Amino acid sequence: MNAAEIISRKRDGFALTSAEIQFMVDGFVDGRVERPQMAAWAMAILLRDMNTDEIVALTQAMLYSGQQFRWSKGRPKVDKHSTGGIGDKISIPLAPLWAACGLDVPMISGRGLGATGGTIDKLESIAGYRTLLSMDEFREQVQSLGVVIASASAEIAPADKELYALRDVTGTVPAIPLITASILSKKLAEGLDALILDVKWGNGAFMKTTSDAKRLAESLAQVAKAMGVPTTALVTNMNQPLGKLVGNAVEIEESEAILRGAGPADVRELTIRLAAEGLVLTGVSADLANARVLATGKLDSGEAWEKYEAWIRGQGGDRRQLAPRAEESVWLADRSGYLAKIETEQLGYAVIDLGGGRRHQSDTIDHGVGFEIEVRVGDRVEPGQLLARVFSRGGVDPIAERMKTVFVIDDCPPPLETLVWEESTALPFGSDR
Ligand code: URA
Repeated sequence: MNAAEIISRKRDGFALTSAEIQFMVDGFVDGRVERPQMAAWAMAILLRDMNTDEIVALTQAMLYSGQQFRWSKGRPKVDKHSTGGIGDKISIPLAPLWAACGLDVPMISGRGLGATGGTIDKLESIAGYRTLLSMDEFREQVQSLGVVIASASAEIAPADKELYALRDVTGTVPAIPLITASILSKKLAEGLDALILDVKWGNGAFMKTTSDAKRLAESLAQVAKAMGVPTTALVTNMNQPLGKLVGNAVEIEESEAILRGAGPADVRELTIRLAAEGLVLTGVSADLANARVLATGKLDSGEAWEKYEAWIRGQGGDRRQLAPRAEESVWLADRSGYLAKIETEQLGYAVIDLGGGRRHQSDTIDHGVGFEIEVRVGDRVEPGQLLARVFSRGGVDPIAERMKTVFVIDDCPPPLETLVWEESTALPFGSDR
């Protein structure tokens, strides 16, 4: 077996064997397969695709390049992965909510990617919060408090770290087999009993169409199930930001509102829906209706909030010392009409322009910048009406050109059914129910 031969076979459209796939991943980690060879292989996968058996083999090879958590019997272990969107802070209220419902949440999470923010960056808005834990610290916090959110340590799926960096600079990030193996090699290292996937579609998501999002949802659910983890995937709408607050510290503020039983309706609903899916999949609740009652009760009674406070303290954070909002300015409507569209991805890039995300891996983040969006798609707006508050260091001028493209106002109301996520169909795939 040699790398050039395996690359050629994939280039010519053949399905690879598990041994060939393992050879490439192991060889990449130990240096026998060179970086240009791995890049060529990634491109061949992007162009030729992989079948489910191949993706399972790739995921296994990447997962077993590192260590995995193994738990003795106890509370069921559950996690959620979102493919990312603008204002998507759901992990932050969801994790303590699940813990308050009696589940353990050993969540490994990521930093911002492309235009989307990352849970780890958001949590670092809280003074003292430690995002990098040793495997022992991670295990201890799960056992004592039932909830942890940390970044992947060097021991978790090292093959993914190397391959992701290579994909990033070779135009091979969008390959569904590579995305599937990348996400699952980290999530399955958590030793889960159930996994909930929130695959976003829309103009603020990685996947711009429902058909691409469904393909990714199916790939993720099939592979996770083939590897023995019961999994439910939903496809949810990302044609406008989730909630009102977009940035880092401001998204912690909104998450805290949800945990106090308040906050925007869409964030609360998605938190409860995803919580309910996990409660059903782990067998804690008999059906979604019962699960919703349990989750809603824990949000409204303050029990989820208590878990949140304990979790943040447990990881060294002081939630009263959240990065303050930067200076506020406003972005106003310049005409009347209906808010026909929000160019959601552009809003994500505007956060990066303000310093709230990274252009280069080494950039540091300004946690106090961001937006408060005051309108929803379909709203009637008048000239001079407040569309968004901008939290920035230099007013709106530096981002004015981009902001002109974000809010699209038209004479006709937009077709709401495709733009408001509550009305879009949430499609369960691979559910064991
Ligand atoms: N998130 C990941 O962890 N990997 C990908 O390839 C895409 C999103």
